[in-house]
Amino acid sequence: MPKLSSRDIIFARIACFASTALITFILSRIDSVKGIPDKIMNAVGTESAVVAVVFWMLLVFIIYDVLMRIVRSLWIQVRKTPDNIGVIRNSDIKINTSRGIGAIPAYRVEFEDVLNSTKDNVIGAVNTLISIGFSLGASDIHINPDPEKVTVILRIQGNLYSLGEIPRHLYSHFARRIKILSGLSIYKQSIPQDGQLYFEDKSYTARVAVFPTANGERIAMRLVNVHARIMDLESIGMPENVLLDCKALLNRSQGMIIITGPTGSGKSTTMFSSLLHIQKLRKDSVNIVTLEDPIETNLEGFFQTQVGQNTGLTFSTGLRSVLRQDPDVIMLGEIRDEETATIAVRAAMTGHLLLTTVHATSTAGVFNRLSQMGIDPVELSSTVHAVISQRLCRQLCPACRKKTELTDAHVRQLKLLGVNEVPEGSFYEADGCPQCLGHGFRGRIALFEILLVTDTLRDFISRGCPAYELSKEARKAGMATLLDHGLELAREGRISLMEMTRIVSD
Ligand SMILES: [Zn+2]
Repeated sequence: MPKLSSRDIIFARIACFASTALITFILSRIDSVKGIPDKIMNAVGTESAVVAVVFWMLLVFIIYDVLMRIVRSLWIQVRKTPDNIGVIRNSDIKINTSRGIGAIPAYRVEFEDVLNSTKDNVIGAVNTLISIGFSLGASDIHINPDPEKVTVILRIQGNLYSLGEIPRHLYSHFARRIKILSGLSIYKQSIPQDGQLYFEDKSYTARVAVFPTANGERIAMRLVNVHARIMDLESIGMPENVLLDCKALLNRSQGMIIITGPTGSGKSTTMFSSLLHIQKLRKDSVNIVTLEDPIETNLEGFFQTQVGQNTGLTFSTGLRSVLRQDPDVIMLGEIRDEETATIAVRAAMTGHLLLTTVHATSTAGVFNRLSQMGIDPVELSSTVHAVISQRLCRQLCPACRKKTELTDAHVRQLKLLGVNEVPEGSFYEADGCPQCLGHGFRGRIALFEILLVTDTLRDFISRGCPAYELSKEARKAGMATLLDHGLELAREGRISLMEMTRIVSD
């Protein structure tokens, strides 16, 4: 018998119990039913009141049991759920991370086969899709309904790959299955909904966003491998100067290190690698706490707390409370309001090293952003040690990249970024080959820039100077910019000049 969730069970029990009482009451008013205990006693030849009590108890039990069975089966009919509502059984999912993007054509065939295998094999198809997504290390799965077809697209390391189509007639079942797994209402189809699906052992999760369109619901799933290995600070692609500065800063016992960059630029990776570095550096003598929305990776030895929707904790309330837990190092997911910013600055001034992210367009822009939030520039100048900015750039496929001449288009792009002298050296492009499935790119690489708050800059910040002045001063003091790092990688043939200029101008 399929199970209901515990809240549903309580409702079902109350409803069945009330109905049982009502039915028993009605039956007790019917003479033919009322007379049954007497008939039994006459037949057996006794006159014990126990017979009547047992009879009525048995009747109540049978009615209640029958009603509960009916409710369960009706529930399953309506919701079409298996016995694991909202949870994916690990045994249903086969994850094989050894195959890489070269296996996409084979996966495409597998997905199509499952969809066509048995009629309405929607559960199997959803499981297969999730298995493929995690196997390929996809960050997102998009399911886009068109008038004629429904396309399934995976985002893997920044590139989009098609995984085929879902027949239109299966799509409503498909969407419903994903919504059930994500704890979303299957009846609401005209409003956006956000949910989350979990594996039984919580090793993988996916944030699911459903959005109504004219052709049906568009589904976006952000896949998260909770036990993904955190990379060492040395292997996240920092150039030598940034790495050395970063390591030196992470040895501080108080102050603030801020990371900035657009969504999906790898800021979390940098923060976690930094925390891991601190943990290795200070061994067991450090108390590291994190406040995240949501927790994307489970880490041993850190105290991680989820804030945000449905938790009753915000970044500011969480931070205020966590300060009483005697932390040495605090990782704060993001500063986006005045209250959080104020508490964060205070924490960084009172013996805590705080790592956080702020949304700004450049390293220097972070100071203006925080000033706009109401933070005193003088406090800011004495608390922030450095701002790191980063971008993720798609790497050229080593198998099909080739040298290219610098064109007018390149020169114009560079001019827009303020590079007036044509840089020396050769640059590369890639047209695509079977190894990169025609995309010309394989994997991604990060671009970094670190702005160290020197005494001169501290003076600039405390006077509230605009971002471009800070930036100019930092460059004068030897700061290598995102563009410098990008040009270096472009000259090495790791990335294309066009991709780099697009990413850096963000
Ligand atoms: Zn290639």
